[in-house]
Amino acid sequence: MVRFTVLASGSKGNSAVISGGRTRILVDAGLSCRELFRRMKLADEDPATLDAIVVTHEHQDHINGLAVTARKLGIPVYFTEAAHRAWMRWLMPRRQMTYAEWLEQCRRQAAERQAETAAAEICDAEEADEEALAPAAEAAQSAGAPSAPLAAGDDPTWLPAVEYFRAGEPFAIGDIDLSPFTIPHDAADPVGFVLSSEGIRMAFVTDLGYITPNVKAQLRGAELLLLESNHDLEMLRDGPYPWQVKQRVLSRVGHLSNDAAAEFLSSAYDGQAIYVILAHLSENNNLPELARVAAERALAPRASLLQNRLLLAGQHQPLAPIYF
Ligand SMILES: [Zn+2]
Ligand SMILES: [Zn+2]
Repeated sequence: MVRFTVLASGSKGNSAVISGGRTRILVDAGLSCRELFRRMKLADEDPATLDAIVVTHEHQDHINGLAVTARKLGIPVYFTEAAHRAWMRWLMPRRQMTYAEWLEQCRRQAAERQAETAAAEICDAEEADEEALAPAAEAAQSAGAPSAPLAAGDDPTWLPAVEYFRAGEPFAIGDIDLSPFTIPHDAADPVGFVLSSEGIRMAFVTDLGYITPNVKAQLRGAELLLLESNHDLEMLRDGPYPWQVKQRVLSRVGHLSNDAAAEFLSSAYDGQAIYVILAHLSENNNLPELARVAAERALAPRASLLQNRLLLAGQHQPLAPIYF
């Protein structure tokens, strides 16, 4: 059975659990580990059964609970190499370390870790501080900590295992096939995914300034389509954000508006999905009803009992699991 559960979606945190066959993966970990686990339990998902975490890009709303969650469960994290580097820079902005030095440090730490016991012990101690990882690292530097590699136990970038993938190169985690594709967004190397298991295709794309021809092609033939519908253009223009932030959101590497999502749904979209989930709605610059109405209008010519059921993913509670 395939199951798709959005735990959270929006600028304060994004995460979803995809379960296929015997494999379960988390796509993004933008909430604290504790909150992710709480929401998984609400959705009847057992955190202990997760096999891996996959990261779309390194923005904070996608990686906030990443390190603690991966350590607590002792599971690998899949990144593009550029996203991993950017994530490390975010955690340790003042570190003077070349990438080669970092790799060497990882090898050394992996050897040291083999002698250690359960990863859970490490994470329990760290959990209280998880959202303060970057400031803690900065404080260590400004307090005169040496620029040489930190001891393994103090390294905020340490993960149980790191696996790299590349956009355009499909890979598998257990029973789930993943096909990452490039999206236009202001991160190091952001991706969307088509995830497949047991013949069910689920397309997953948020955080993109516009829908490129390649993204359109990737989104074809999916049984489930999760698509960003970030902002209402008027609410954004008239809203509280500073001018620079508004420009960023509106740019070709920002976020999709309700109109842009609706334009896709009424034109290039093939109309084949059983479920269409609107995601990453802004709490400041959008209203669920505006996003819903725009998408409903776009989908109206294709309305049927069996296809294009419209759902909205929210920030504050999980969406009911979708079963195939
Ligand atoms: Zn985001
Ligand atoms: Zn982003």
